[in-house]
Amino acid sequence: MTIEENLINIRKRIASYEQKYGRAQGSVRLLAASKGQAAIKVEAAVHAGQHLFGENYLQEGLKKISALGDHDVEWHFIGPIQSNKTRKIAENFSWVHGIDNLKIASRFNDQRPHHLPPLNICIEVNVSHEASKSGVAIEEALPLAKECLALPHLELRGLMTVPAINKDFDAERREFRKLFQLWETFRDQGIVLDILSMGMSDDFEAAIAEGSTMVRIGRAIFGERERKK
Ligand SMILES: *Cc1c(COP(=O)(O)O)cnc(C)c1O
Repeated sequence: MTIEENLINIRKRIASYEQKYGRAQGSVRLLAASKGQAAIKVEAAVHAGQHLFGENYLQEGLKKISALGDHDVEWHFIGPIQSNKTRKIAENFSWVHGIDNLKIASRFNDQRPHHLPPLNICIEVNVSHEASKSGVAIEEALPLAKECLALPHLELRGLMTVPAINKDFDAERREFRKLFQLWETFRDQGIVLDILSMGMSDDFEAAIAEGSTMVRIGRAIFGERERKK
């Protein structure tokens, strides 16, 4: 299967899940997670009409951003954030999905160049209570969101999660539902966000069933990743 065929297939599946779970047509955006994939593959995806890409590692991401410089691509940083990398991320990406503390958010706010629009951010929530995972606990998300809303060079867009790997579909849905419910709590507090960033190659049906508005898909588009050098 080519990247183009994979993209057609994924878009069809997204549309069919929107219909199956009573979601509005076109309500789920597709982010191509391109970590560990060569720039030429990213370019093939761009030619097949893909617009949103996510990278996890700064150096690798910067190489692809410059290689793809002439194309109309929206770059999302979806990896773990080290504080010594925030400036380059703020200068080169449009979105950051893994915000989980105020200190990092403040750095992005201070370092976002003023000639660019505000940096779009999602707060990462650790819905599965895994000690190894980044992300705030569910009850910490709203206080952090309120602090982020006060930062003028950031635009709080949504919530993001990478749940624990689950054995069955219903268990996957239960994890994603926690983020959806938190999103509704935000709405009840007057914080209306358009992005619920959840769902990857192996679990995006469950995520769409539970209200995802942005799925982040890597291997199902590009195939297996190259080993990280
Ligand atoms: C790698 C990655 C993805 C995509 O994972 P696949 O299983 O390849 O679809 C999505 N989100 C994040 C945060 C990732 O690191």
